[in-house]
Amino acid sequence: MAKKIIKRSWAEPFKIKVVEPISMTTKEYREKTAKQAGYNTFLLKSQDIYIDLLTDSGTNAMSDYQWAGMMLGDEAYAGSKNFYYLWDNVKKYYGYPYFVPTHQGRAAEHLVSKILIKPGDYIPGNMYFTTTRLHQEIAGGTFVDVIIDEAHDPQSLHPFKGNVDISKLDKLVKEVGAKKIPYISVAGPVNMAGGQPISMANIVELKSYAKKNGIKMWLDATRLVENAYFIKQREKGYENKTIAQILKEICSHFEGIWVSAKKDLLVNIGGFIATKNKNVYEEARNLVVVYEGLHTYGGLAGRDMEAMARGIEEMVNYDYIRSRIGQVEYFGNKLLEYKIPIVQPIGGHAIFLDAKRFLPHLKQIEFPAQTLANEIYIDSGVRAMERGIVSAGRNQKTGDHNYPKLELVRLTLPRRVYTQAHIDVTYESIASVYDKRKSIKGLKMIYEPKYLRFFQARFEKLK
Ligand SMILES: *Cc1c(COP(=O)(O)O)cnc(C)c1O
Repeated sequence: MAKKIIKRSWAEPFKIKVVEPISMTTKEYREKTAKQAGYNTFLLKSQDIYIDLLTDSGTNAMSDYQWAGMMLGDEAYAGSKNFYYLWDNVKKYYGYPYFVPTHQGRAAEHLVSKILIKPGDYIPGNMYFTTTRLHQEIAGGTFVDVIIDEAHDPQSLHPFKGNVDISKLDKLVKEVGAKKIPYISVAGPVNMAGGQPISMANIVELKSYAKKNGIKMWLDATRLVENAYFIKQREKGYENKTIAQILKEICSHFEGIWVSAKKDLLVNIGGFIATKNKNVYEEARNLVVVYEGLHTYGGLAGRDMEAMARGIEEMVNYDYIRSRIGQVEYFGNKLLEYKIPIVQPIGGHAIFLDAKRFLPHLKQIEFPAQTLANEIYIDSGVRAMERGIVSAGRNQKTGDHNYPKLELVRLTLPRRVYTQAHIDVTYESIASVYDKRKSIKGLKMIYEPKYLRFFQARFEKLK
């Protein structure tokens, strides 16, 4: 009798047409390059990396359909046909009538913050994102975190850790008054919480609260396709809706969105603003000329806009997004089987190792996550990044380090770039570092830049 198949696997819904060779180096070589880079993975050269999981931003593989579109770039200064095609797709898939392109996400954040925020305003949001918060602050606003408490607990299994705690929001509204809150800044999913989604039910409840209090809602829709997938998987009533339907339904609740196209849209550069508010649109269209370029290219080449327009069509394909998030889950489940501590539930774009539980013998000031990212690189050439005390910087008033609750190493998966075998190799390397974890010593910081120190700080190994 034939053996019974108990499980049906998914596989990537694409095959490889072009390959890019990667370097396989020796451990001795990596010990040298890691030391030269001051034990900071941001300072390593890309040619010395085997599997690069530093970020999923702009590191996507484009399809043959997108590459073919690149040849159709209309590089006219004004009124490029690629701009109009992209605008049509933004209308069709996100549902907004107005659209302004920008060269990447933070440029869109810059314009939205400048238009909506007045000095002295407060901007509540479901956890901060580095560039989003910075632009809100530069515009004179103060960011206030109103995410649910579970988001700060790496072991909580809440299915929607990106949800807003409406009682925290209400407390702020009562304290400062709705007039001082230009908009609620929602992200879906929440990057800094580990790629955790917000539920449709929470968005609907939030909207009714916002409407009652006369507050607008804006959305960071950079990874919204991943959020739509989680809603389809986890929220009642959405099982039979398409990713495209859920995406549009989420957007319908917000006045506008800003987007870094370097994530969902499967391209290497790009961003945009889309809105239903004509006045905000007119201002954004005006300001984009000052900071980015004419409103029909916003700092992008015509070919970039064509690739974005085509990427929108591909990103809502169910088989594609299932394989993307499926790859992250496959990776996370392997680590969990080996009892390696990670943030749970497994998020949409990355695995976060919990360095506090991985290296419990290191004090936070010995940089556990920085140490762990380096050990993985030296073991196998896999590049990850620190999200812990180095990233958290110093307290502006006391000058001491900020000591964040979470001390994490992020392994981010670029879209359509690596195969399951690359994931296996990465998992095996992390498991082997885990086996010898007790012998691992920490680091000492020997050079510290003033701003965003994690990019350029240098370290030495403790003896
Ligand atoms: C990457 C990112 C941004 C910033 O976009 P850039 O294209 O890097 O400027 C903003 N918000 C979120 C959630 C992001 O992941």
